[in-house]
Formats: sequence, structure tokens, C-alpha cells
Amino acid sequence: MYFCPSFTFSMKPIIILTYLLFFLSTDLSAQLRCAFDEHRNAQEQKYEGMAAQNEALNQSLQNLPFPTSAQPRQEITIPVVVHILYSTEAENIPDQQIYAQIDVINEDFRLLNENVQNIPDEFKPFAVDTEIEFCLASIGPDGVPTTGINRIQTEVDCIARIATSVQGNRSQLFYSSIGGSDAWDTERYLNIWVGNTCGDFLGLATSIAVPDYQPEEDGIVIDYNYFGNNCNSDFSAPYNLGRTATHEIGHFLGLLHPWGNCESDDSDFISDTPSQDAPYYGCPSYPQISCGSSDMYMNFMNYSDDVCMALFTAGQKERMLAALAGPRAGLTESVGCALLDPIVPFGRDAISLYPNPAENCIHIDFDADIPGDIQVQMLDAAGQEIYYTIESSRNFRPIDATNLPNGIYFVSFRAAKQTITKKIMVLK
Ligand SMILES: [Zn+2]
Repeated sequence: MYFCPSFTFSMKPIIILTYLLFFLSTDLSAQLRCAFDEHRNAQEQKYEGMAAQNEALNQSLQNLPFPTSAQPRQEITIPVVVHILYSTEAENIPDQQIYAQIDVINEDFRLLNENVQNIPDEFKPFAVDTEIEFCLASIGPDGVPTTGINRIQTEVDCIARIATSVQGNRSQLFYSSIGGSDAWDTERYLNIWVGNTCGDFLGLATSIAVPDYQPEEDGIVIDYNYFGNNCNSDFSAPYNLGRTATHEIGHFLGLLHPWGNCESDDSDFISDTPSQDAPYYGCPSYPQISCGSSDMYMNFMNYSDDVCMALFTAGQKERMLAALAGPRAGLTESVGCALLDPIVPFGRDAISLYPNPAENCIHIDFDADIPGDIQVQMLDAAGQEIYYTIESSRNFRPIDATNLPNGIYFVSFRAAKQTITKKIMVLK
């Protein structure tokens, strides 16, 4: 816990000012690093009860440990769909930029980012691997294989400036019928809309109460200039390394900004992020002190330059896993990342699953030359795990299907860091 002995600074004028800028700004220099607070405030005014629910959920996440029984045996992989909305060719960013963005968030969430070494010694012990990963969805909501990239040409300029690109009560970005792109099932996919905010903000995420009020707008919005790794872009600098998405996904998984309340440590409901009185920008030098403690200006939930952000803490990891056990649980049950890794060291024919359809027994045969242990996981169509084992021999006992209801099941085989997924029907 961190306390500020002499709290005299009020955030209110700043909150009101940034809120107004969010709606009125066309000045590039005034664009917000992150419009999470402003967007949440606007939505809470729109929907009665949302503010109270956000508050209740924010409280509950700190009391909701990720259940031991649900601990992942390996990382949690969240399927992502990227909606690219463009009215000019420049806004239609290439696939490589999207792949680069997925790489950045995977490195940052797994603590594989190169700048970990620059974290001051005081904070190095706080940096953790969150064990959360992301894939571009490989199976769409209709069960059909997909690239996870959804390109939509639109007539609407500045479509990602969601506070002003509206029709009626709806932001056009989120609706195909009015020039945007409909979300994929927001319980099962992380939707990221990429478009032109015309200088309003770099990114925003929806708060965790949104699924109960406005699920069709649940996800993340990022300006196309700040999506992916744009390390050669002077325009995008210093927010050019893809960490706007890292920050916004943190919000989407229940994290709040770590500043704003010196008096107690409840500004983000996390005990291992030191209290600070305001956001940090640029690349501060160590140490930076506020609220009577040394501040973690290099945390991903701060506003520092991309090159200077480097870590999530254990407390932030716990909170994100709690969100994934609570309001965001659907993401862990999604089969959107199945059929990953189409290039495998062993062919699909190296594994046989039969008979198909199966009645009471599902037999598995493996080629003897598949290297190492093989993890076998069977999910039903809703993403619930039915069966799991790690096999080091190649003599599998059949999976007992006696009590399984009729339906489609997905069986994933993971070996040598590669996964293939096969579909089987149970029919009695
Ligand atoms: Zn933010």
C-alpha cells in the first residue's frame, strides 16, 4: 500500500478538460494518448446503472482470484479479430503491420519485450509474464476458417472518431449498416477496430460493464497510425511501437490507470503499482517521486512513450486473470484460435481420429516419429474442455464418449510447439 501524507491536488479540472477535448478536438497536438476514462464517462452517462456496475465489477475483481481449478496448464490464448475501416488507401494498412501488432502484444504480455533490461532495478522484481497470449482468429464465429482480418471500405471519413461519427445513438464504426463493421461475438473474440480518429485519440477500450449494456460496441479502437510497429514513422513517434494496443488490452481485461488518488491505493485497485498523482509522458529518468513513493512510470498502463513502457506487475496479472475468470470468461472458452499453426513438423495425416462419427469410443493413432510429449485437449462446440491428457508414449487409450451428448467436438494435438486441431462428431 502507498499513501500520500499531504494530498492537495485535485484531478477534477483535468478530467473535465480532457473530456471536453475528446469531443471537441480537431487539433493533432491535443489528441489523447488513451480515451478509456472519457469513453467510459460518456457511456456511463448514456446508460443508467452502468457506472454502478463498473464500480461493483472493479471492486469484485480484486476479490476474485483466478480459480485454481481454472488455472491454465499452458498460456491462455485470446482470439483477436482486427476490423480495418478505411476510406483512403493509407488507412488500409497492410497485413504485415497487423502481424507485427500481434507480435508486439504477445511479447509484452509474455515478458519477452527487449526493453525489460531497461527497467530500473527497483521495479525489475515486479515484472511478470502474464501467461496471456493472442492469436489472429483462425476460426470465425460461423465456424469457418478465417484470417482474423476484416477489411471494410467505408464512405465515412474519420469513422474511428466515435464520439462524433454517430448516427442516432450509435457510433458508425461498430455497425455495418451505417458504414462500420459489426463486431464478431464479443464474448468469444477480442474485437479491435482500426481506423482514422482524425487526431482525437490514439486508442480506447471499453470498460468491463459494457458487455451487459452494449455488447455490439465491446472491444478496442485504435487509430491506424498507432497500430502495429511503425518504428520508421516520424508521424507516429513516439507512440510508434505498438504499445497503444498493449495498454488498451490491459483496460479491456480490467486494468485502470494507476494515477489519480494519492490518499489511498485504490485508484487502480492494485497493491503493487505505486500510487502516483498524474500520468507520466515522455521518457522520464529514474527515479520519479509522487504521493511519497517512487513511481512506476514504465508500466504499460502509464502514458510514457512506447519505447519506455516495459512491464505489467503480478497484481495486474492477477486482475486480468480474474477478469478472464469473470466478466471476460467467454474469451478463454473460445475456439477462435483452434486450427492454429497450419505449418506443422508433422502432417495432419500423422494423427488419426476415428471412427467419425463416433459412438462410444474415439480412437487416436499417432505416427511414431512425432517428437516429444503430445498434449491432447478435447473441447465441445461451446469451448468447454471435455478431455485433457499429456501423452509421452504413443499408445493412447480411446477417449470414452459414452456420456458425451451428440455434437461436434474439437480435438487439439500439441507437440513440438505446433498444434493441429481435428473435428469429430459424436452421434448415437
Ligand atoms: Zn488508458
